[in-house]
Amino acid sequence: MQKKIRLATIWLDGCSGCHMSILDMDEKLIEIAQYVDVVYSPYVDAKEFPQDVDLTIVEGALSTDHDIAMIKKIRENSKLIIALGDCAITGNVSAMKNLYGSEAVLKKGYLDLADLNEKGEYPSKMVPKLLDKVLPLHEVVHVDYFLPGCPTPSDAIYEMLKALIEGREIHIHSITRFGK
Ligand code: SF4
Repeated sequence: MQKKIRLATIWLDGCSGCHMSILDMDEKLIEIAQYVDVVYSPYVDAKEFPQDVDLTIVEGALSTDHDIAMIKKIRENSKLIIALGDCAITGNVSAMKNLYGSEAVLKKGYLDLADLNEKGEYPSKMVPKLLDKVLPLHEVVHVDYFLPGCPTPSDAIYEMLKALIEGREIHIHSITRFGK
């Protein structure tokens, strides 16, 4: 039997909808599971991103200093990265706050709409710092494959995983490989 692919998945600034699309593969998940070891994911209880990952599927854009550190760590430790969904690829819904800036978003959330905030402060401890601008993944690291959609259709995720498992060149029109 061929060696199993070490697979990681993560959502950064996404709504989790693209991860739900992974689960929507339903019984096809059983087929895929024969060929992969899930070494890091919201679906499993791993705390630290591991080394020597073959493939990492990333949902969501980069909105905080923690997201930037995380995507760099993922790139250092992953042979391939798939940007899953429009938030990871373009910023999409996550980047709507770029219209106003992080200061306006914090003010709206923690001051204007807050029922209780007597000191009139934003959280500053144990909370990642918002970036001034939400970024898609490829603006910070090299991304190997892009799977668009909001959410990405589960059939497209299945076809891509199957192609990667079988070591096939990927010629699906909605999937693009960007070289650097
Ligand atoms: S692309 Fe759509 S479904 Fe996926 S994380 Fe973004 S908002 Fe959610």
